[in-house]
Amino acid sequence: MAKVRNWQLGRDMEYPYVADRPAKQFTMIMDTNKCIACQSCTIACKSTWTWGKGQEFMLWNNIETKPYGFYPTGWDVNVLELLGEQEWDGDDVYTGQTVFEAAPAGERVLGWAPAEEDWSHPNIGEDEPTGSADETTYIPDKPHSLMWMYYLQRICNHCTYPACVAACPREAIYKRPEDGIVLVDQTRCRGYQECLTACPYKKTMFNLETRVSEKCIGCYPKLEQGLQTQCTTACIGRLRLTNYLSAPDEVDPRKPADFLVHVRMIALPLYPQLGLEPNVYYIPPVHVPTKYLTQMFGPGVERAVEMYRNAKDDPELLGLLMLFGSTERIWHTWDVSDGVARAYDEDGEEVVAVPLREPTFTRPFEFATEVAGEPVTGFRHNT
Ligand code: SF4
Ligand code: SF4
Repeated sequence: MAKVRNWQLGRDMEYPYVADRPAKQFTMIMDTNKCIACQSCTIACKSTWTWGKGQEFMLWNNIETKPYGFYPTGWDVNVLELLGEQEWDGDDVYTGQTVFEAAPAGERVLGWAPAEEDWSHPNIGEDEPTGSADETTYIPDKPHSLMWMYYLQRICNHCTYPACVAACPREAIYKRPEDGIVLVDQTRCRGYQECLTACPYKKTMFNLETRVSEKCIGCYPKLEQGLQTQCTTACIGRLRLTNYLSAPDEVDPRKPADFLVHVRMIALPLYPQLGLEPNVYYIPPVHVPTKYLTQMFGPGVERAVEMYRNAKDDPELLGLLMLFGSTERIWHTWDVSDGVARAYDEDGEEVVAVPLREPTFTRPFEFATEVAGEPVTGFRHNT
């Protein structure tokens, strides 16, 4: 095992290969607060990439309701239970073990293999909140303390230290040096399914027809044309941003992903304690108990939630969030002036402009006192 630096853990860790960070890393930022679980992203992905034979059950992109939704069933609960205690030293350093460090003797990753049946219920737990309405006597009094749920958007994390790469005995999975996208070389894959067992996020899938593994490809043919992914451009809630992240020692605050992840630290990784340095980042939901969010996104959730609540008074951050989903093109810098957020390409040319406040019209409130000559006894809207 080599020693590699995992900035999300605040320490070095063991990994089977030496660190080889790409020049720029594909990333996606998700604002969980805006998702309505319409599944437009899921369908956009499925109809583009997984409509063939043997792919019927495959959802490279899926949306699950937390805490009771899973695809495949129990994916995160199972790996967290296997890993045991996960402790952080304050906000900075993870003191527990990663899935690489906790691997059984003779294996490279601590993992588990889903059964075929586990892929059969992508909507399990959908819209199911914790607690019950009876316990929450008056909701405005106890906002979301007993009843809550939220939607988690999931694709492959194109991890810096992928467990799928670590586990493959054929070296059939690789990370592209130009953008850090993780791909399966299907001519090398022999269908051993070690990647399925190893990936704690369960984002490699096995094609029963072709007998090889498949996974999210980060829509790389679109990226190569300077376009954001299918799930990003289909998103009704405009909550996704496809972009690139700099190496942690080369952070550039003018770049949107670096700003959200490294400068403001409002976008957090999913289960960082597993040790893969995942490259999809989440702005946490503001209404969910801190304890649950800390387990899911690591320390720093309280600060992120507070910052999000105050974004309305922070034009730089607000402008960046307003630019999510505003164009299919990938943009690289942004600014805000005179109430307008503008995004620019690599040459500094404007790609799109979005007002921080959209003009609205409030219709006068009126009641009818009679309809067709007859007096109206209850309130009735005058149309
Ligand atoms: S999320 Fe899983 S499949 Fe994707 S790169 Fe990481 S380990 Fe591999
Ligand atoms: S398209 Fe956007 S809003 Fe709809 S489910 Fe997907 S992430 Fe959520």
